Amino acid sequence: MTTEIDAPEQEPAPPKIRTCLRCQAPFESAWAGERICKPCKSTHAWRSGEGVRTVSNRAGGGSSSGKSSGS
Ligand SMILES: [Zn+2]
Repeated sequence: MTTEIDAPEQEPAPPKIRTCLRCQAPFESAWAGERICKPCKSTHAWRSGEGVRTVSNRAGGGSSSGKSSGS
């Protein structure tokens, strides 16, 4: 006896694991627009809207990374 359950396919976008754009930590985003984890959102910086002060724009990219090729 096969009982086919007539379940309506109405799933309002299930939560998806995304990567936070701030701390790069995987979190469960409720919707597609959710790209910032809750901890980050609750931070004062985020709420204040002061912007992220990341001084990573240093002139002259002199990264001397030696090639470590071990055989
Ligand atoms: Zn985060």
